[in-house]
Amino acid sequence: MRGLLIGRFQPFHNGHSYVIREVLKENEEIIIGIGSAQISHTLENPFTAGERVMMVSKSLYENGIKKNYYIIPIPDVNNNSLWVPHVRSLTPPFNKVYSGNTLVKRLFGEVGVKVETPPMYNREEYSGTMIRKRILNDEPWVDFVPRAVVDVINEVSGVSRLKDLAKSDRA
Ligand code: ATP
Ligand code: MG
Repeated sequence: MRGLLIGRFQPFHNGHSYVIREVLKENEEIIIGIGSAQISHTLENPFTAGERVMMVSKSLYENGIKKNYYIIPIPDVNNNSLWVPHVRSLTPPFNKVYSGNTLVKRLFGEVGVKVETPPMYNREEYSGTMIRKRILNDEPWVDFVPRAVVDVINEVSGVSRLKDLAKSDRA
């Protein structure tokens, strides 16, 4: 069995890492689809697809997960009816999709793909939105992501990138 987990991973955090371990309990392999792959350098989507690939693969390595996964960047098509075939055109075949996103669940469900919603794990802290907010406000965040993600964010000067993105040119 091969499961598909789709997220934007802006950034990859401990909740994602937990779900991946859960998915690998019931599947030999996992496909990690990096959604909105073409978007970067915005407050909602600060990191590039390549940076997110690094976050995911280094975090999995740190967790001892070394070969039974595929990381596939998936750019948006901006056409919900075409999205599932688009995803399928880019990924290895899969038996089941894991997502908490309502639209993702509906689009796969409508074409008969099995969809499961993984339970949320410490959502107060493990949320991309909350972590981006904390980075911007200099509040503690490094404990909410794998060590490898801290290293990637430092390597690409992610903290100052986010702070710059939050600045307006009107001041
Ligand atoms: P954002 O706030 O930017 O949307 P996010 O934390 O929701 O970030 P996504 O990349 O949107 O992260 O997440 C993709 C999927 O990962 C979600 O649909 C959900 O299934 C799962 N997920 C996210 N956070 C958690 C968590 N804390 N515990 C378990 N699963 C999670
Ligand atoms: Mg989300």
